[in-house]
Amino acid sequence: MSDTADTASKRPYRGRFAPSPTGPLHFGSLVAAVGSYLDAKVNHGKWLVRIEDIDTTRVVAGAASDILKTLEAYGLYWDESVIYQSQRQSLYQDVVTQLIEQQLIYACHCSRKQIKAMGGIYQGHCKNRQYPFTDSALRLTQCYATSQYQDLLQGLIQIDPRLAQEDYLIKRSDGLFAYQLVVVVDDIAQNISRVVRGADLLDPTARQLSLFQQLKQPSPEYAHLPLVVAKPGFKLSKQNYAPAISTSSAKPALLNAFEFLGLKPEKALLSESIEYMLAWAITKFSLTTVPKATEIQVSQHPVSQDPQFAIIK
Ligand SMILES: [Zn+2]
Repeated sequence: MSDTADTASKRPYRGRFAPSPTGPLHFGSLVAAVGSYLDAKVNHGKWLVRIEDIDTTRVVAGAASDILKTLEAYGLYWDESVIYQSQRQSLYQDVVTQLIEQQLIYACHCSRKQIKAMGGIYQGHCKNRQYPFTDSALRLTQCYATSQYQDLLQGLIQIDPRLAQEDYLIKRSDGLFAYQLVVVVDDIAQNISRVVRGADLLDPTARQLSLFQQLKQPSPEYAHLPLVVAKPGFKLSKQNYAPAISTSSAKPALLNAFEFLGLKPEKALLSESIEYMLAWAITKFSLTTVPKATEIQVSQHPVSQDPQFAIIK
């Protein structure tokens, strides 16, 4: 891993926030946005925004522009044009075609239910069946199984080796490109050097690292922030009552996000401008003071005054 880290540290810092437009930003996504923004700015880097709208079945109309307006209301301005995955289909298809030409892809006709019945981990059932590629799910032969990696915040992450070796989906049977593929293709295209995001993506990162290797491209460094949970195991999301954060009164939620990320803001900061608050946070933020936890529970509505944060794990 030291080679990867050395390479990454020599690249210009380019970070990103990559929300899925499935609803408005809530406190959990604000923490990810603020954490990635501050880490980029502390390191004199660029902070990009990418709308991950590849799964069109989950996209909510209007959510993408709503998210961008919310980021602006919080003073979180991005440095380059926003990219939308839904407009990049040909780029993803080019990568799939390249992998097909390398004979690394096969069509799979197994249903989720069948894979579950086979133990939940795909064992290459369709590998030598030569199904045609059209109208089929496509799997990538795993040549670079990654069962551990070093996370800048969470330390050494270890993955079930069977999962690491799995031939995973890169295109679904409904024709949609898989998240694992598009996120890596976009991180390469945008030359992302460091990814700061929520700890729910700790395990999928191993798979993404294997794809960077397969595509012969340097991987970013990763720092996975603690997730905001309503109760153990339940991250804040639309499904469990997380309210949209206010765009008319951004400062209290911003202050709470700073606290969540290990900063110690005085309440007096609330009487300053948003720009001042962010500038203050840039002088104080460091990954070393972010709690090294994967889940932190909020005791009450996280945008209220003085929420309590308790580390779960
Ligand atoms: Zn199969």
